[in-house]
Amino acid sequence: MFESLSDGLQSAFKSLSGKGKLTDANMRDGLEIVQKSMLEADVSYSVVQDFMGKVSEKALGKRVLLSLRPHEELVNIVHSELISILGPVDPSLHLKKDGPTIIMLCGLQGSGKTTTCGKLSQMLKEEGIKPVLVAADLQRPAAIEQLHVIGRQLDVPVYSEPDNKDPVKVCKNGVKKAIADGARVVILDTAGRLAIDEELMGELKRIDKKVSPDQVYLVVDGMTGQDAVNSAGAFNEALELDGVIMTKLDGDARGGALLSVKHVTGVPIKFIGTGEQFDALEPFRPEGMAGRILQ
Ligand code: GDP
Repeated sequence: MFESLSDGLQSAFKSLSGKGKLTDANMRDGLEIVQKSMLEADVSYSVVQDFMGKVSEKALGKRVLLSLRPHEELVNIVHSELISILGPVDPSLHLKKDGPTIIMLCGLQGSGKTTTCGKLSQMLKEEGIKPVLVAADLQRPAAIEQLHVIGRQLDVPVYSEPDNKDPVKVCKNGVKKAIADGARVVILDTAGRLAIDEELMGELKRIDKKVSPDQVYLVVDGMTGQDAVNSAGAFNEALELDGVIMTKLDGDARGGALLSVKHVTGVPIKFIGTGEQFDALEPFRPEGMAGRILQ
């Protein structure tokens, strides 16, 4: 029962259960421990409040107080509620049966878009699909070359037009070429900025409108906490996101931002990035993340 929670929370709950019969008061103590743990994991305050509201409603009901092992029941409620709001699980790229599936990656500069193009390519190649990568990040001088390096390493074609200053045209031409070549998947590596700005959003909206990608994924850096949440809100307002890929979860970050990003965007967390290598992309598993957030 307690195995899915971290040592700290386990012992906190155990000390509560040592107090004999569970009362409303020590149940509240238990909920406070959960709340503190989530705030420490960098979950936004408003999201924690919302979560605690739902959990309290269930936990303070008679069912828990009357159950044979009320403390275990409380842990159960917290854990399953967390898994439920982190879901649904949807690691599929929803590839179309006919015609190429166009996947657009967007996100702030440095969030990991270009690296994720490589990771998705590797994943697709393992399924026997060779994608085409389109170098539409015309902001960062080295981005086009970085994508070509990735393409050479993975043996996947990269479309670029180094002299074209219009990312919309580059995307359109890249998709046209990919269709002519019979590609099943096209991945657009779009430009980021250091922070959200009108120009960036305008550019992404134009690509979205003119190229009509089938899947639009936001790539967010899991190490950036509240910044990740703010940028996710802005991207979600500008574009119709289909999913989120959170990178850099191989570091110390407890991943609370992921819960907030899910809350703000309402779209599935598709994958998490757990390293710089091409194979460091994992389908998102709410169970694993719930344990990590509740440390
Ligand atoms: P972009 O500007 O969004 O295209 O970002 P990049 O793909 O260039 O990534 C920025 C940096 O983050 C690079 O040094 C990547 O190697 C690194 N990076 C990307 N994803 C991950 C990840 O999941 N874990 C770690 N540790 N580093 C990552």
